[in-house]
Amino acid sequence: MAATTDSPNATTPFSLDLSEDQRDIRSWVHGFAESVVRPAAAEWDEREETPWDIIREAAKIGLYSFEALAQFHADETGLTMPIANEELFWGDAGIGLAIMGTSLPVAAIFGQGTGEQIGEWIPRCFGTPDDPKVGSFCASEPDAGSDVSAIRTTARFDEAANEWVLNGQKAWATNGGIADVHVVVASVDRELGARGHAAFVISKEETKGIEQGAKVRKHGLRASHTADVHLDDCRIPAENVLGGKERLDERLARVREGGRAKSQAAMATFEATRPMVGAQALGIARAAYEYALEYAGERVQFGRPIVDNQAIAFTLADMKLELDAARLLVWRASWMARSGKTFENAEGSMSKLKAGEVAVWATERAIQILGGNGYTREFPVERWHRDAKIYTIFEGTSEIQRLVIARAISGRQIR
Ligand SMILES: Cc1cc2nc3c(=O)[nH]c(=O)nc-3n(C[C@H](O)[C@H](O)[C@H](O)COP(=O)(O)OP(=O)(O)OC[C@H]3O[C@@H](n4cnc5c(N)ncnc54)[C@H](O)[C@@H]3O)c2cc1C
Repeated sequence: MAATTDSPNATTPFSLDLSEDQRDIRSWVHGFAESVVRPAAAEWDEREETPWDIIREAAKIGLYSFEALAQFHADETGLTMPIANEELFWGDAGIGLAIMGTSLPVAAIFGQGTGEQIGEWIPRCFGTPDDPKVGSFCASEPDAGSDVSAIRTTARFDEAANEWVLNGQKAWATNGGIADVHVVVASVDRELGARGHAAFVISKEETKGIEQGAKVRKHGLRASHTADVHLDDCRIPAENVLGGKERLDERLARVREGGRAKSQAAMATFEATRPMVGAQALGIARAAYEYALEYAGERVQFGRPIVDNQAIAFTLADMKLELDAARLLVWRASWMARSGKTFENAEGSMSKLKAGEVAVWATERAIQILGGNGYTREFPVERWHRDAKIYTIFEGTSEIQRLVIARAISGRQIR
């Protein structure tokens, strides 16, 4: 069994002692979440629209920018990214995802793109502070959810025109259709299954044949836009395949000869971002815990604050315990990902699975602690519960994460 936290090739030691920079970033993001995001949360949830005003404010202070993401990523301990996500999503997860949704296509471009592609496309995902844009990562399809290998969208290379031609339907795309930059995962060779996939970058403004389909009406994260995306003879330049056509051709040739493909386009992006998604769920869980703790100290029944009852106090104790346990898993996975370690025991999946389930459980407990108020729209905990549930679904459902962990620990192809 592989060692994880004490691996001898660790470059940056794991430490829970936060640096001054990490603490500064935490209070900077928290300040924005508290003063701008949380007061606007209920309104945007009801409107079910992308909160462009808030994105603009985040862009003006530099929080919505590649520079901020790069600064969070630059921290070699890997902890700044989850810390920033937890604070923002503590403010509100719907608005949080409207701001952070762009980081998914950015992760794909950054992880798989050439230097030139990174320089050209990442700034376009953000636009400018006065005219911000968003990006979208489109992997899922109506018949390809957990089973990414079932992707049917095709990318055919038209030699004569030196262009790729994409056809298919994407589903569940965060920012789908409203983004300027869409990163689309498509099959270049159906016979190779997931190993024949590649990721393509498409400018919505400059390209014909890419259109938004139906917008999804969700129970939670309603300030974050989710929609189908249709690709209908969508033609893009040869150089828009992430990593470049030459590298793709080499990879496909290797796979056809029976060799291994180093990474599959969609899975590589999901794996790298899983601890960050876990941190977002943690933000919701912590919001619910803090809210319930305060409420329990103020609400008087039977002549005393309800927190003085052991049942309530123990529930709050368990909430704190689960929250801290989940955070430790998220931080470990983030540190490992940043140090370039392989998740031999599926630590990335473990972190997201635990944080997602803690968020659902903690928000449900918070509703209970608030009693009737917990069920009303005047109080945010029911909204947080709706938001939390998505964290057991997207970027891999809890079942799929358990499957990944079970395979890793047993070394068997469990189905
Ligand atoms: C709000 C939101 C935003 C999203 N954003 C994006 C995005 O930006 N880009 C993108 O590409 N996708 C996005 N998705 C899609 C998301 O990644 C998929 O919903 C997810 O992969 C699950 O797929 P599915 O919904 O088709 O469920 P299915 O795959 O149909 O699964 C249905 C159920 O069966 C279970 N199941 C499936 N296979 C197994 C198995 N082998 N063993 C045990 N149980 C199994 C699942 O766990 C689940 O409970 C988003 C989804 C949501 C809800």
